[in-house]
Amino acid sequence: MPASDPTFKITPSTTRLAAAEREKELKAIQFGRVFTDHMAVVNYRNGTWQDGEVKAYAAIPLSPAASVLHYGQAIFEGFKAYRQPDGSVSMFRPDENWNRFNRSARRLAMPAIPKDLFIGASEALVAIDEAWVPSGPGESLYLRPFMIATDPYLGVRPSETYMFLVIASPAGEYFPQGLKPVSVWVSKDYVRAAPGGTGEAKCAGNYAASLLAQAEAKDQGCDQVIWLDAIEREIIEEMGGMNLFFVYRQHGEPVVVTPALTGTLLAGITRSTLLDLAADLGLKAEERRLRLTDVLQDIASGAISEVFACGTAAVITPVGEIKGRGFAQVVNDGGNGPVAMALRDALLGIQRGTAPDKHGWMHAVPLGSAPR
Ligand SMILES: *Cc1c(COP(=O)(O)O)cnc(C)c1O
Repeated sequence: MPASDPTFKITPSTTRLAAAEREKELKAIQFGRVFTDHMAVVNYRNGTWQDGEVKAYAAIPLSPAASVLHYGQAIFEGFKAYRQPDGSVSMFRPDENWNRFNRSARRLAMPAIPKDLFIGASEALVAIDEAWVPSGPGESLYLRPFMIATDPYLGVRPSETYMFLVIASPAGEYFPQGLKPVSVWVSKDYVRAAPGGTGEAKCAGNYAASLLAQAEAKDQGCDQVIWLDAIEREIIEEMGGMNLFFVYRQHGEPVVVTPALTGTLLAGITRSTLLDLAADLGLKAEERRLRLTDVLQDIASGAISEVFACGTAAVITPVGEIKGRGFAQVVNDGGNGPVAMALRDALLGIQRGTAPDKHGWMHAVPLGSAPR
């Protein structure tokens, strides 16, 4: 069945921003604060997904007893739609986000959503709000699919009703002044995920539990948190909402290394994309366990030449300094490294449509039929 097959009832907003107002928003993009004119909504009840609707972006009706508000059944995704050189719009690997969404749903005892609904909702939203897809370098339309439990019931059990929504926010160049390396704080007091927990699920609760550690990092003068494993508090897992890469030099050749997926870190789609792109660029790539003490020594000795983080929002962010209680280690003189830059350019080229998409990662959005 083609992805655009499910019927979405389209109810155009009567309060759309005028073109001039929208252009103003797109000139000074406020990512995550400004949303497009519409949203897609699909309800789940009686064991099935109902027909979807695309309608004006607005507050949603929710009982104060809705179980998401009390027991936190809430999952989300994030991916981007990019304006292509020919004026069309393509989304980056939305099928991977759909896969991960359903893995998260399973972990939180929520229903799976069919691919045609997940992708179709995103396509229908992008089509009607196409004018919101910016075209500048590094700009995109960020799509945020999410699902919440809506049963008005305080008993502790999986909800029987859910709401799936997609909202969209224009995203600007993440580093308008050029890439700026971040400093990171290694959290030994707090843990993000434990074996058997929800670390691999993209669920709202993981983020709630990370905010205090993030505040601690800020207090220590750092931009982000690095999470260690829950048992030894020694194995490097990931950074805030991004996965980590370390560039080793072996016989003068760079080798990119990222923490192996152990079940407690989030399997980033950017992470897996960069592993493929590294191979395309002729770089050796490895997934394995990385100990903090080894990594700090290897940075000090020069065996590690670059550290960077990756994720959908910022693509690639160099790490310039790693700090924790009793240590501070500058990486690569606090600057940008050539491997991070090469991978970033390769990825952005594919996303912007200026480099060939030989892996078939771009998903063209059918724009034709939407009322505009
Ligand atoms: C979403 C997320 C990532 C990055 O995943 P991408 O698919 O690359 O955007 C990494 N870590 C956490 C905790 C996340 O929630």
